[in-house]
Amino acid sequence: MNDKSHVGLTTCFYCGEHSGVMLDRRMKDSLPKEIGIVDMMPCSSCESHMKKGIWLIEINPPKDGKIPMHEQTDRKGNVVQRIPNPDRTGRMALMIDPAVERIFDKGMYEWGRKHRFLFIDKETYEMVGLDQEVEA
Ligand SMILES: [Zn+2]
Repeated sequence: MNDKSHVGLTTCFYCGEHSGVMLDRRMKDSLPKEIGIVDMMPCSSCESHMKKGIWLIEINPPKDGKIPMHEQTDRKGNVVQRIPNPDRTGRMALMIDPAVERIFDKGMYEWGRKHRFLFIDKETYEMVGLDQEVEA
């Protein structure tokens, strides 16, 4: 990454792959260089998956029950974006909407339907049988 050019690789929030290049002077100072820029825009691959289903992303549940948020700030210290940053296990799977509706409670389904992803714990992941699938 070249500091002078203010160019950063964007990292897809969902799959963690580098999804593109972003030019953004505003956010430069607040970004951890090693992870690059993360935003909530899916990469093209995730975007097409999310038209078909909802990402179920496995996480280690936070001890206090609250998902930590990464706050991105501008140069003046104003929070420009808050991104959930739980401890992920690295496993994720795509589930079609009707299946999510059947398996999860209404609140979770509605949230997932809107945001196109859900964080779930290991127990749930395996209970649903997702650990038997390799590829989304
Ligand atoms: Zn992605």
